Amino acid sequence: MDLQLRGTSALVTGAGSGIGRAVASALAAEGVRVVLLDRDESAVRDAARTCPDSIVLVADVTDEEQTSSELASLERLDAVVCCAGISGPVGSGIEEISLGEWNAVFAVNVTGPFLVLRHALPALRAAGAASVVLVSSDSAFVASPGMAPYCASKAALVQFARALSVDLAGTGIRVNTVAPSVVDTPMSRGDLGDAAFDAADFPVQTADEVAAHVAYLVSPRSRAVNGTTLLSDFGYTARSGFPA
Ligand code: NAP
Repeated sequence: MDLQLRGTSALVTGAGSGIGRAVASALAAEGVRVVLLDRDESAVRDAARTCPDSIVLVADVTDEEQTSSELASLERLDAVVCCAGISGPVGSGIEEISLGEWNAVFAVNVTGPFLVLRHALPALRAAGAASVVLVSSDSAFVASPGMAPYCASKAALVQFARALSVDLAGTGIRVNTVAPSVVDTPMSRGDLGDAAFDAADFPVQTADEVAAHVAYLVSPRSRAVNGTTLLSDFGYTARSGFPA
């Protein structure tokens, strides 16, 4: 299927690693001019090598001044994909989590997309019809023990996207989320350890598979899809606790 993305442009945050890197590469393969943003300059420059004619921006998405000045030069964007995120504490009970750790997770995972979209909106409006995809997680709906800040932040992102889709109705800008379960990336390997992936007894998807979901939501092929979440969890949340 032709995703009809050739000649369009897209900003991808967190493009230096994992899912963001795979999204940038997948969109570039569809003929999109990609703007790659990350706080890790060497990683994002390396990622840009697979994206012809791309632009590299270096910013911490929690810093409004940095983010706004980096985005200021973008006149038109057909899509924004917010992938930059952190796990925060893993395996910690609420008494062990500091306010600083809680705030850091919300700063990157929720405030980051808010700031990026706040400053990308003029460029999105200039496109006439545009698509925003926020990378949430299955942790918005089901919780692993000891990851309360992450779970809460990803749930906030789902509702932020729904609220934005309502606020932007009539502008031609759609807003959706993708919510994958475990994806094999540096983040999840850092959280679970490499050994967990060697003979994983849980379903794992690749960053490229998530990138394909994102590409569909970026594409005008999904123009009727707005304010929704694409939950890719191998059907885990569909299962009832009823013992039958
Ligand atoms: P990753 O491999 O760690 O990539 C995230 C990228 O975002 C890194 O390059 C990171 O830089 C960058 N970043 C982090 N904070 C930033 C900030 N404040 N400003 C700019 N860039 C920043 O992680 P990933 O697994 O691809 O995750 C991408 C997104 O998918 C996240 O939102 C994550 O919550 C979500 N997700 C992941 C999984 C999974 O199992 N991996 C599942 C569901 C959802 P640094 O390396 O410097 O931190």
